[in-house]
Amino acid sequence: MTMTYDVELKGIKKSFNNQNIVKEFNLQVKKGEFISFLGPSGCGKTTTLNMLAGFLEPNEGELFIKGKKMNKIPPYNRELGMVFQTYSLFPHMTIFENVAYGLKLRKVPKSEIKLRVKKVLELVQLPHLNDRFPNQLSGGQRQRIAIARALVTEPSILLLDEPLSNLDAKLRIELRDELKRLHKQLGVTTIFVTHDQEEALSLSDRIVVMSHGNIEQIGTPDEIYHRPKTEFVHTFIGQTNRFQGKVEAVNGKEVCILSSDGFRFNTLSQQNKFEVGEQVNLFIRPESVYLSKDFHTDQNITSITGTIKLVTFLGAVTEYHITVGNHDLTVRTQQPKSEWMEGTTVSCYWDIKDQLLIKREE
Ligand code: ATP
Repeated sequence: MTMTYDVELKGIKKSFNNQNIVKEFNLQVKKGEFISFLGPSGCGKTTTLNMLAGFLEPNEGELFIKGKKMNKIPPYNRELGMVFQTYSLFPHMTIFENVAYGLKLRKVPKSEIKLRVKKVLELVQLPHLNDRFPNQLSGGQRQRIAIARALVTEPSILLLDEPLSNLDAKLRIELRDELKRLHKQLGVTTIFVTHDQEEALSLSDRIVVMSHGNIEQIGTPDEIYHRPKTEFVHTFIGQTNRFQGKVEAVNGKEVCILSSDGFRFNTLSQQNKFEVGEQVNLFIRPESVYLSKDFHTDQNITSITGTIKLVTFLGAVTEYHITVGNHDLTVRTQQPKSEWMEGTTVSCYWDIKDQLLIKREE
């Protein structure tokens, strides 16, 4: 028997004015999954979500919800809940009326509406706001109400388009945790659009990383962070240091790289095959670099000497900018040492397993 997915997009394409905005989108979402579409502004996240919601029709491809083809089905018949970036509450209706709206449209009896609105407002932890109007609520409260309104009809799929991006930093984190709790509690299949890596990493079962209308990679947060398939994915998610170089020697999985500023790096290639002379980039994350007074000579360790240029205390970690060759190497460590001051010479070292080697994209 073939598996039925909650959401399936097969070869979905969309163009505006002859410009391909979504190029070839294939995705299968299982029941209860939390999926994020992550990518920079303009990469086609919202366009894809709008096709799922039924506000836009794909030029090509097929779109299924719970195994049923949806290409021609209008939004209100797709059993979806939606929350947008801007609070889309009706300003002239009370909170109760806003949340009850979808149920009224569905002609649910009044007594049941009362019960369901009460339940969903308790779920978002705002049970006492029934009679207020949206402009009497804080931004965070309004977004909770928008979520309650989307959930009250018990949709089988919840679509969220940057619902946290208009909130200040503290509220964002609060509401992010709230979304996580709600998802755990209700298990509703969720598709979440964001350009914020932290949000995607912390909330998702799987992340779809997009760039220029293409899917760069689909994977769990751990895969996306630790085993990026492309340079775009690695550099978009989190911070990194890059050394340009070329392959000097290959011995099975061991690949020796000579960087443009004269450093030799021994690496172990995990996924790709490399050839002598090939142009590559070697990446190392700031949190994977350690500092020491001594030079390490272990063959599983890369060690290079540099001069500390800038020290920035960030609370939980301290960030060092270190000049190595013609590089500015960023290092982030939890163990600041008072003797590591600006101008000091230090050895920067890391496990070669933490290096990432990717063929240079022209
Ligand atoms: P953001 O994070 O800024 O919302 P996004 O990844 O969601 O970005 P989309 O809103 O999907 O990006 O837009 C992708 C591209 O398609 C943009 O260049 C946008 O200008 C273009 N676009 C979107 N809708 C239309 C439209 N109706 N007509 C013409 N171009 C459009």
